[in-house]
Amino acid sequence: MIKIKDKALCAGCGACVQSCPLHCIFMRTDEEGFCYPEADQEKCVECGICEHVCPCINKLHHSEQEPDVWCVRHQNDRIRFDSSSGGVFSALAEWIIKQGGIVFGAELSEDCQSVKHTAVGALEEIERIRGSKYVQSSVGNTYLCAKEYLEQGKKVLFSGTPCQIKGLKLYLEKDFDYLVCVDVICHGVPSQSLWAKYAEYLQEKFGTEISSVNFRSKKYGWRDFGTKYLGNRRKQYFKFNFEDPYFRMFNSNLCLRPSCYQCQAKDGESGADITLGDFWNVESVFPELNDNKGISMVLLNSDKGKKLFETVRKEFYATNKGLSYELAKKCNPAIYKSQPYPAVRSAFYADMNNMSFCRLSEKYVPATMKIALKALLLRIGLWPYIEKKRGGG
Ligand SMILES: Cc1cc2nc3c(=O)[nH]c(=O)nc-3n(C[C@H](O)[C@H](O)[C@H](O)COP(=O)(O)OP(=O)(O)OC[C@H]3O[C@@H](n4cnc5c(N)ncnc54)[C@H](O)[C@@H]3O)c2cc1C
Repeated sequence: MIKIKDKALCAGCGACVQSCPLHCIFMRTDEEGFCYPEADQEKCVECGICEHVCPCINKLHHSEQEPDVWCVRHQNDRIRFDSSSGGVFSALAEWIIKQGGIVFGAELSEDCQSVKHTAVGALEEIERIRGSKYVQSSVGNTYLCAKEYLEQGKKVLFSGTPCQIKGLKLYLEKDFDYLVCVDVICHGVPSQSLWAKYAEYLQEKFGTEISSVNFRSKKYGWRDFGTKYLGNRRKQYFKFNFEDPYFRMFNSNLCLRPSCYQCQAKDGESGADITLGDFWNVESVFPELNDNKGISMVLLNSDKGKKLFETVRKEFYATNKGLSYELAKKCNPAIYKSQPYPAVRSAFYADMNNMSFCRLSEKYVPATMKIALKALLLRIGLWPYIEKKRGGG
């Protein structure tokens, strides 16, 4: 019977819930705001199926070949502006939908308080799942839905974090020709409760409900991205990633799911056909491509991934000149390395339940003069000159 003894060994993908033939497993949210499965002891017959589909304790069979690495940006600057990095996901999604297929991805709820996986089948719906949301997405019953579409012979693109893709592949048990899996290079995921607390704090602070959030706003460029919150009555709020308290909690690893610190789905283990991330450090590899509007690192992990990429390639400016998996890992270590577990992480989440968001951020990610000054210089456009003088950028 499923019993989570070590929280680091559950990614919360819900493959176990969806695979249980007796429907006796359900998700319960813990005090940190992460969901874990529990079984109804009366109904469970200990068949063990739930354990067979768990991405934290099982391995997938996959090719030992290293992926092909590409540096890619969408030709359409509007799509690129609205996407987190180079807009590759949108081109893949568009092609699948034009073939009559269905695309699964993460969507922010209407009240902006939570994130869940959903399916879209129309071009105008792609924007709902475009862009990174730095909150753990709830998979719900989307593995089941994806399987139903595949059995009807529909093309399916399923996108998510590496653990979600590995969970899907284990849940499906066999490969489907019409399924393409796309994962992201993943830093880890914060809990829905922490995000909801921040969203509530912002609503109180600005006296208006939040109507949309862009976690990767490129208002001041891709490199110095920030989070843009839109409220009612045209209220807007933008914070650079290095000044936004929620993003700083995320970036300093204080709030990631326990399993993220020892991710079992990185480095090609997820079974994804294509992996998407930011091409950080592109300036040291292809300085001529660095227009600061967003460039993706694309890893093609399977023949199916390579084929789809070739099919949509005309939408992109793309090069793989001199690129290797070794170099990709050097530019973007999150491909293979989990983040370190901070000593104060448990205290952080204990405090989350007892402190206001304001006090929590003052304690763990205090604002400093240096941060405020950098933000000001970026806003007035002086930062690039200062960086150049200091020999950076
Ligand atoms: C939680 C998280 C952490 C990330 N960490 C890194 C990192 O450390 N380094 C790096 O290079 N890139 C990271 N990325 C990936 C990066 O932010 C871009 O998503 C990726 O480069 C694809 O960008 P795009 O422009 O092609 O498309 P976009 O349209 O920006 O990508 C959207 C894709 O991300 C998926 N997605 C969005 N939010 C979630 C979510 N909460 N859970 C599951 N799937 C989601 C959507 O379903 C869609 O497939 C992360 C993404 C997420 C969601």
